[in-house]
Amino acid sequence: MNESARAECRHWIGAENRYCKEADGVRRYLPGLRCPEHTPNALKGLPEIPPGPGWPTRRKEAS
Ligand SMILES: [Zn+2]
Repeated sequence: MNESARAECRHWIGAENRYCKEADGVRRYLPGLRCPEHTPNALKGLPEIPPGPGWPTRRKEAS
């Protein structure tokens, strides 16, 4: 992961003309890093899908 030294939400808040940059609870989603308020599902008003089998946000790392 080389995109940023710090994990922060990359959601663009158009109304405030800035990126969210929230760092608490940030996880990687298909569009990129998102805080709990700005996950793809949250933006669509859908319930959050908990990570688990079949949810490909995390892959087993080769050791
Ligand atoms: Zn956010």
